[in-house]
Amino acid sequence: MKAAFFRLPGEVELREVSTPEPKAGEALVRIIACGICGTDAEAFRSHKADWHRRGHEYAGEVVAIGEGVVGLKVGDIVSGVSSVPCGKCNACLKGLPKYCAQRQYGGSDAFAEYVCKRAEFFHPIHNLTPEEGALIEPLTVALQLVRDGNVQLGSTVLLIGAGPIGLMALKLCRECGASKIFVSHPSTSVERLKLAQEWGADLILHPDKEDVVGKLKQVEPDGVECVLVTIKPSIAISQAVEASAIGGTIAFVGVEWQPEATLKFDVDKFHFHKLKLIGSDHNPCSLLYDEAEDLLQRKVIDAQKLITHRFPLDCIGEAFDLACKGGRYARKVMVGAY
Ligand SMILES: [Zn+2]
Ligand SMILES: [Zn+2]
Repeated sequence: MKAAFFRLPGEVELREVSTPEPKAGEALVRIIACGICGTDAEAFRSHKADWHRRGHEYAGEVVAIGEGVVGLKVGDIVSGVSSVPCGKCNACLKGLPKYCAQRQYGGSDAFAEYVCKRAEFFHPIHNLTPEEGALIEPLTVALQLVRDGNVQLGSTVLLIGAGPIGLMALKLCRECGASKIFVSHPSTSVERLKLAQEWGADLILHPDKEDVVGKLKQVEPDGVECVLVTIKPSIAISQAVEASAIGGTIAFVGVEWQPEATLKFDVDKFHFHKLKLIGSDHNPCSLLYDEAEDLLQRKVIDAQKLITHRFPLDCIGEAFDLACKGGRYARKVMVGAY
């Protein structure tokens, strides 16, 4: 089978490797669609790493199963699950699997023709296309972010960063009844801004052109109750603190990929304004798959609006070039059996 190998920054090549055979408890899945995540594009642009595989937002068809697999059969369409709770640690035993201390990861290797993993890393999907199924994983990130940001009926929200996760979070905020949604996103990201408008942003502010917090305060002098951050926290958190109303909640999913990245913000304001800051990692994300699947089935999140480009695996280099240009031309870029 063909599989993509990456050397960062900037290199990807397809290699012929042997197709794995499923052992007991495993399934072999033919990849139909795999999304390029913001973290993949960011890594491709700027990380340093030796040859490795990537791809964690995917769906495909079960083509073989090993002994003892229950709940999956050949021909099922499945969505790849990034992580599952262990079921045995203290948090799991206390009924808090979202705080699992030994979450199991499914690995990133789906820019390929097939993947072979333990069956619990595949979630069978119904009444969804494989492309829609490939959006379940990133949608669980958006879902967790909106929950952690405490967005409720009537909330005022500032969303910093309208990439695919941010756009889905925006749509979910609208869905759960937020009264006002402000979006901060660069003016050059034309394609994504169009969808932000369509999915219900009340006011879009451009950090490359204007003072976002100043403009926001002209409309919302006391600040907003919820701030959702999908870009690097080192860039966004100080702004989030400035934009928050007293008692506000800031939730973030941006990752720095550095062991000691530091944040700078007005700590006194944070204290006197009784703010809350929440790291909103969605893992173990299997807990949210049924809900995300339902949101896609009901077209609360319309995959066809989010996915703008599709490339066959053979053209993965082109796909990454486009994804790295960000939201000027593309919203979500898919690679797979096209
Ligand atoms: Zn991702
Ligand atoms: Zn656990």
